[in-house]
Amino acid sequence: MKPVILITGGSRGIGAATALLAAARGYAVAVNYRRNQTAALAVVDKITQTGGEAIAVAADVAVESDVLRLFETVDAQLGPLTALVNNAGILEQQMRVEQMDAGRLHRIFTTNVIGCFLCAREAIRRMSTTHGGAGGAIVNVSSGAVHMGSPGEYVDYAASKGALDTMTAGLAREVAADGIRVNGVRPGFIYTDIHADGGEPDRVNRLKNNVPLKRGGQPEEVAAAILWLLSEEASYTTGALLDVAGGK
Ligand code: NAP
Repeated sequence: MKPVILITGGSRGIGAATALLAAARGYAVAVNYRRNQTAALAVVDKITQTGGEAIAVAADVAVESDVLRLFETVDAQLGPLTALVNNAGILEQQMRVEQMDAGRLHRIFTTNVIGCFLCAREAIRRMSTTHGGAGGAIVNVSSGAVHMGSPGEYVDYAASKGALDTMTAGLAREVAADGIRVNGVRPGFIYTDIHADGGEPDRVNRLKNNVPLKRGGQPEEVAAAILWLLSEEASYTTGALLDVAGGK
């Protein structure tokens, strides 16, 4: 039986690159998405055309009933979960904090923090040796934004990733004895569509010269770090927060 991985937001950007690499490494892959079914099915097609196993599952990680259905679908269609990548995350139009309304703050924190908690909870209920599972690994996709807090752009987003990092630290300790490792990656400026959601599609090119390596990153470079943290090569690594940001 293949190991089974669930990647939230696996249809585009870093999540899609992670799905493709996971399939190449022998995982059966659940590609979660929120709205863009075409993109999700394209990732699944790429995997199945090369002999891999994958399904696409629509679910909003911010909605608890969706998360429950997502995990039940993975159980039924792929089997026992081995790995979770809490990758789905959102940001909104760049603005200062004094311009932000409560609706936006709820959307950011519900998706980026509560969504990760709900998915981690469901994964632990399945993986934990205390609950009869076989153990497993979780990677939370945070952001290099935690270091400076994204002033003038999205302090709310950066703060949500700070919360996620603290969740990684606590959860790693909490479930270590249950056979589950929990780690985080903090991508820097990566070429994906997320920057368009902030109103600046070309943001990576504006900022890349501030990066020690003097370039933006590719989604595949983040995916490689995620797959390493999930792998047996990282068997003694838990509670780690790995910057994948071209230096800092
Ligand atoms: P992206 O290209 O905008 O893709 C986002 C993915 O998440 C899509 O598959 C989207 O599905 C899905 N998604 C969004 N909200 C969701 C929800 N509520 N439920 C389920 N799926 C949802 O993003 P990305 O740049 O690859 O970012 C992936 C992660 O890396 C995020 O957590 C982000 O914060 C983090 N990150 C990115 C960068 C960067 O420079 N790109 C830097 C640091 C951290 P639909 O298309 O169906 O909506």
